[in-house]
Amino acid sequence: MSETLNRDRIAILGRSLFARGLTFGSTGNISVRIDGGWLMTPTGTSMGEIDPERIAKLDDNGDWVGGDRPTKESFLHLAMYQQRPKAGAVVHLHSTYSVAVSCLEDVDHDNVLPPITAYYVMRIGRLPLVPYFPPGDADLAKAVGEIAGSHHAVLLANHGPVVAGATLNDAVYAIEELEETARLFLLLRGADTRLLSAAQVRGLQQRFPPRV
Ligand code: ZN
Repeated sequence: MSETLNRDRIAILGRSLFARGLTFGSTGNISVRIDGGWLMTPTGTSMGEIDPERIAKLDDNGDWVGGDRPTKESFLHLAMYQQRPKAGAVVHLHSTYSVAVSCLEDVDHDNVLPPITAYYVMRIGRLPLVPYFPPGDADLAKAVGEIAGSHHAVLLANHGPVVAGATLNDAVYAIEELEETARLFLLLRGADTRLLSAAQVRGLQQRFPPRV
């Protein structure tokens, strides 16, 4: 896909996520791998109002080389790409239900959400919780980098999800699936729930191995 088309797709999907309440204010960011570097949404900009031509461009070293200044959370994206050579895009949101789950005390830190539906298993699978660090803290990038090699989706404690995809569409679909599953998980809390069995999860993982 050409750089121009990637810029347009970032703006279209950013607007869509914003319109549906998955981002708010100037939170959330999207990046796409391109020849020679990355495109990254700018800092201090609403995802609902991204100007394709002003999207930041980073070179292979992650240095800002064009467009508006990139998001202050660029390091989260770069930590993911460094560990996942097949990742073509990364999306990070402060989406409400995922953030709510990221604040719960009694979750499994190795895999925060249970296998409620087949699409969650196929698009996310395991979701580890990254301990809390203040935004912009170098230790947050380090913590993400340490588990990104074995997980394409992570949940930052008291903050939100970071999800990589083979393509931009894949990353957006996966983070939407995660947000909806977090919502279902909260709706079902306290209710006797039939989860997918370990054998059902294994069957899905064999038939639909992750693309990223
Ligand atoms: Zn954030």
